[in-house]
Amino acid sequence: MKTDLEIATAAKLKPIQSIINGLDILDEEWEPYGKYKAKLSLGLLDRLNNEKDGNLILVTSINPTPAGEGKSTVTVGLGQALKQLGKKTAIALREPSLGPVMGLKGGATGGGYSQVVPMEEINLHFTGDIHAITATNNALAALIDNHIFQGNQAQIDPRQITWKRVVDLNDRALRQVVVGLGGVKQGVPREDGFNITVASEIMAILCLANSYQDLKARLSKIVVGYRVDSSPVTVADLGVEGVLAMLLRDALKPNLVQTIEGVPAFIHGGPFANIAHGCNSLLATRMAGKLADYVVTEAGFGADLGAEKFLNIKSRAGNLDPKAVVIVATTRALKMHGGVEQDKLTEENLAALNEGLSNLAKHIETIESFGLPYVVALNHFTTDTAAEIKVIEDWCQARNISLALTTVWADGGKGGIELANQVIQKIAEQKVNFQPLYPLTASIKEKIDTIAKRVYGASTVKYSALAEQQINEFSQHGWGDLPICMAKTQYSLSDQPDQLGRPTDFTITIRELRPSIGAGFIVALTGEMLTMPGLPKQPAALKMDIDATGEITGLF
Ligand code: ADP
Repeated sequence: MKTDLEIATAAKLKPIQSIINGLDILDEEWEPYGKYKAKLSLGLLDRLNNEKDGNLILVTSINPTPAGEGKSTVTVGLGQALKQLGKKTAIALREPSLGPVMGLKGGATGGGYSQVVPMEEINLHFTGDIHAITATNNALAALIDNHIFQGNQAQIDPRQITWKRVVDLNDRALRQVVVGLGGVKQGVPREDGFNITVASEIMAILCLANSYQDLKARLSKIVVGYRVDSSPVTVADLGVEGVLAMLLRDALKPNLVQTIEGVPAFIHGGPFANIAHGCNSLLATRMAGKLADYVVTEAGFGADLGAEKFLNIKSRAGNLDPKAVVIVATTRALKMHGGVEQDKLTEENLAALNEGLSNLAKHIETIESFGLPYVVALNHFTTDTAAEIKVIEDWCQARNISLALTTVWADGGKGGIELANQVIQKIAEQKVNFQPLYPLTASIKEKIDTIAKRVYGASTVKYSALAEQQINEFSQHGWGDLPICMAKTQYSLSDQPDQLGRPTDFTITIRELRPSIGAGFIVALTGEMLTMPGLPKQPAALKMDIDATGEITGLF
C-alpha cells in the first residue's frame, strides 16, 4: 500500500495559475508563492461583497483516536466528489502545525487519494504564516520586556504579565522559564513561559479578523498583563498594534492550493481545537464562499470541540450561515469507545462497536441542538468487516439517520459520491434552523454551563477558587459578553481523557480562565489541559529523513 507521501508526490499538480483561472479572481488579486501555492488579496472580498455565498458544509467527527478519524480526508474527498458531480466547489482547511507533524498525529493534509498538495510544503513551512505569527507574538513579548526595562511607563506589574512567548513545536521544557537573568543590563528577571503558536491569541486573531483595520483593532485589545491595582494593560496602552499588524500583513492573506483532483483548497490559519478555537480563518471561509457554490470546511477534533466553537464562536463572529454538517465516524474509534484497546482496533468486535455508538449518538444530539441537518459519514478502512458496517447501518436506519459509507481515502472523489448526493439533498430540503447554543448576554458561568451540560453531557460544573475569582474580575472589566472557548481533552466528552464512550453523571472542572479579548473570547481551561504540548515517547520525527536529492521520507 502506498503511503500518503508517495501518493501525494506522484500526483500530477496543475500550475496554481490554472486553479486561479477556474475561479473569479482578477490578476491583481493574487500572487504566486512558488509553482503550486498562491496568496489572495483581501480586495477580492471587497469586490465580491454583494455576491451570494456558496453553501457552507461543516465536517466534524466523533471523539477521535490519537491517529484522527479522517475529517480532513473526508473534507477533501467530499470536495472532490462534489466537483465530480459538476458542482463549483472549494474546500477550506487549517494550516498544519509542526507540533503534531513531528509528534504523534502527523500532518493535516488529508490522506490516501483525498489530499491537498503539495503535501510536504503544506505540512512543513508552507507560506510562512505560522512563522509570521510566532514572530509577531514574540515581538510583543520583546516590546513588553523592553517597556519595563526602559522605565515601565504603563506600570505593568512584572509579576502579573500574562503574555507568553510561543514556538510552533511540542516542547514541554519551555512551559515555564525565567527570563531577564544576567544583571542590570539584561532586563528585569521574571517568570515566563511558552505556548505552542497554534494556541496563541495572535493565531486566533488572524483567524477571526475581517480586514486589516479589524486586525489592528483586535490586536490593540490584547491584554498583556495587569498593574498592581489589578487594572489590565493592553497592547493599545503600549501603542504597538501598528507594528504587530504590519508583521502579519502577508500572513493575513488566505493561501490557495489544490487537492489531488484539482479542487481549489484554501488553507489558512491553524488554531488547535482542544486548546484554541480550532477553525481555519474566517477570511478564507468567506472567500471560498464567494468563489464557489459549495464550500466544505472542517473544524478540529470531535463535535464537542471544533464544531461547538465553529458554531458558537466563528459563525457568530463572521455571520456565517452553515447549511449542513457531516459527522465522520470510523469503526476503530467506535470500538475504542466500546472499550477496545488501541492495539486491537483493527479486529472485528461487534459488541464493542454497538457499545461505542453511544459516542456518535451524543455528537448527533449536539448538531441537532444547533438546528443543523447532518449526514453521518462512515470513513471506510480496509480492515472494516461487512458485519461491522451492517451494525452501523442498522443503528442509523433504526433512528432514521442519514448514513453514507465513504471510501474517499482509497478512491478519491469517486468514493464520496453517495455522501455528496446526500449532503446536496439535505441542503436542498432547507431544514436549517441554525442558532448558537447561548446568547452572548448570558453570564460567563451560564455560557460555560450550557456547553458543559448540553454539548458534553455533564451533570455539574465545578469552578476552582482561581476561576471563581477570575469570573468576578472579568465581569468587572466588562468582558462578560464574550463567547467561551473551552480548552478540553479531545479524547473524551468529559475532561478526563480515559472516560470514553458517552460518560454520564460527571463533573467538568474549570481550573482557570484566560482573557483573549483581541480574539474576542474567554478561554476556559478544564481538567489538566496545557497550552504547550509535549512529544510522545516515539515521536513521528524519529522516522523522518531527507536523502541526497532532497527527497523526504516519513512525513504523513
Ligand atoms: P482528522 O482530520 O480527523 O484528524 P485525517 O484526515 O488527518 O484525520 O486522517 C488521519 C490519518 O488517518 C491520516 O494519516 C490519513 O491518511 C489516515 N486515514 C484517514 N482515513 C483513512 C482510511 N479510510 N483508511 C486508512 N487511513 C486513513
